Amino acid sequence: MKCLECSGDKFEEKKCRFTPEVKGEEVEIIVPAMVCVKCHTPFMNDTQMNQMRKAAADAYRKTYDLLTSEEIVHFRNLFGMSQAAFSNYLKIGEASIKRWETYFVQDASQDELIRLKCDEAYAEYSALNVHWKSHSPDIYSGKRCFSWELFKQAVKYLIGVTKSPLFLNKALFYADFKHYQLYGKSITGTRYAHLEYGPCPEQYTNLFNFMLQENMLIQTEGHTLNTIEPANLTIFSASEKEVLESIANLAKSDGGKKLLKMSHQEDAYKNSESMALISYEFAKNLKI
Ligand SMILES: [Zn+2]
Repeated sequence: MKCLECSGDKFEEKKCRFTPEVKGEEVEIIVPAMVCVKCHTPFMNDTQMNQMRKAAADAYRKTYDLLTSEEIVHFRNLFGMSQAAFSNYLKIGEASIKRWETYFVQDASQDELIRLKCDEAYAEYSALNVHWKSHSPDIYSGKRCFSWELFKQAVKYLIGVTKSPLFLNKALFYADFKHYQLYGKSITGTRYAHLEYGPCPEQYTNLFNFMLQENMLIQTEGHTLNTIEPANLTIFSASEKEVLESIANLAKSDGGKKLLKMSHQEDAYKNSESMALISYEFAKNLKI
């Protein structure tokens, strides 16, 4: 295999962020690809291509609150049904079930039918989710949409070294701003506000409370937090993971005390108004 861009012949499998189109809309996904060592152009083999199609269909489904392929399989398995039995149960052709379980996106009415028949206790999406989704990417979100999933996993990962929201908030700030400084996009799309204790994710108490309610976090002694399961780092790209790890390393020795102190010295903090959102423009002057 030769690179079509530079005819280089060395490739490394890496997780890359792509934005393919599904039903005329761009979606954002992270999937493995073969990356040319010389010019960094990503290429895909057939397996990777299939992975990408499935991931793209699922990303689209998530955006529109449609069941993912895995959730459909999960429902079917819940009832212990074969694809044929499941199609009988839903009164839908078996071919459709097969395709939905891979990369053919079901339409909204079909989705509703599956839900009604399978999961009457389907949890309503929280008002929180709606709030975050209503913001388009801008300089206050680090030029990307807020991702609840990435935020949760970043929290789960960084709380391991920071223990309390006070330090966690600074670690999140540094991770997002550092990634913006290096790559022009934040990791989680979180908006940070200038609060008394330093830069903090906007509405962080709501976000953490929601994670507590959902048992993604537990409150331990005092104001400290902990996770039940370890963070899922596979949803981060190579560069995102690298930045998260570097911030965790900085916080490891003292639980983030230095980060907290430093965050108050940052232009992002000193030059933004109290209670106001902090622009990612300041990322270029970061002290770490
Ligand atoms: Zn190349």
